[in-house]
Amino acid sequence: MKNIAILGSTGSIGTQTLEVVRENQDIRVLGLSAGSNITRLEEQIREFRPKLAAVWNEEKAKELRLRIADLDTRVVSGMEGLTELAVIHETDILVTAIVGMIGIRPTIEAIRAGKDIALANKETLVTAGHIIMPLAREKNVSILPVDSEHSAIFQSLRGNDGKAVKKILLTASGGPFRGKKEEDLLDIQVEDALKHPNWSMGRKITIDSSTMVNKGLEVMEARWLFDVKMDQIQVVIQPQSIIHSMVEYVDGAVMAQLGTPDMKLPIQYALYYPERRYLPGERLDFWKLGRLDFEEPDMDTFYALALAYEAGRAEGTLPTVFNAANELAVKMFLDREIKYLEITQIIEDCMRAHKNKENPTLQEILEAEAEVYERIESRR
Ligand code: NAD
Ligand code: MG
Repeated sequence: MKNIAILGSTGSIGTQTLEVVRENQDIRVLGLSAGSNITRLEEQIREFRPKLAAVWNEEKAKELRLRIADLDTRVVSGMEGLTELAVIHETDILVTAIVGMIGIRPTIEAIRAGKDIALANKETLVTAGHIIMPLAREKNVSILPVDSEHSAIFQSLRGNDGKAVKKILLTASGGPFRGKKEEDLLDIQVEDALKHPNWSMGRKITIDSSTMVNKGLEVMEARWLFDVKMDQIQVVIQPQSIIHSMVEYVDGAVMAQLGTPDMKLPIQYALYYPERRYLPGERLDFWKLGRLDFEEPDMDTFYALALAYEAGRAEGTLPTVFNAANELAVKMFLDREIKYLEITQIIEDCMRAHKNKENPTLQEILEAEAEVYERIESRR
């Protein structure tokens, strides 16, 4: 019996994690958490009976306490609550399904406490990979990728010599605006950007997929997870989202993982690694599929990807600036405060204004985030 806790259990990854738990019947859920959606959280608590539930919003936490007064689940709140949830004594794996770099502190605390991490929260690794990866090695903690591309790379590395890796081929669907040019994107509305061709995901990552920011974050995530250089990672557009990513070895052999787009596969793989289990769902039918297509990404139109390479190569606080600027800009776009193309413009503006700091501490990362927020707020 494995014990898990989930940071962000009410979101897209969180609910799919619980579906995997429900189907398998041999994982115990000790902690659940949400930002503010206590209605869904209450349903999850009633079904899975965790010891602890963390709600970011203090008022909502109070309300939840009243609603579940008949249960033994203790409700905590704020950053303290998230951190308590991350280190529950009996937990084996912490699933980081929270969105944004708010996941940094609880993830670091979980690693310090020796918990394995099933990592979906890429923003944490992008901004603090240089702290998290060495700490995980020191604590003998596994960082198990949940992101589909990184799970595919992880699977394609199995049974091979890591030193023989030539490059990582990170696939991308290209999002809803693949093939479009800047002039086609001037009047993009929130609803247009929320229509992903292949995946159903949370709102923030769906916008990130449309701007290619998501792929940029994933390149930086892969750089840390697999200990490669930014320039060893090549983004390949694979519009059908069937090839989830590939690894090229020094002898020219390429290993890939393919499958129908279903996040439950990487989630289940991370939870049971190294075991591979039955997973219900559609199988690939290559006779019907007929073909797979490939393209080079258009980094002139979707130059957020080029900015991500720049930030990742520079390291230091620049990836934090890239990420934080995007987090706020996406929020502003979703709130209809800015236009679509301004998301990437804001990221670039913040990067240009920033003085990069090498090898930042957690405090310096959070300061860089605050600096970006101040800069953007001051221009509203
Ligand atoms: P989502 O918006 O659907 O869910 C986010 C979860 O985080 C929710 O449970 C929400 O309540 C919680 N949350 C948000 N702010 C919080 C706070 N301050 N305190 C506590 N909880 C908070 O997002 P998602 O699509 O599930 O994505 C989660 C993470 O997984 C992101 O980092 C994303 O990039 C990554 N990811 C998602 C997918 C996907 O298919 N959805 C695929 C790969 C990677
Ligand atoms: Mg992905």
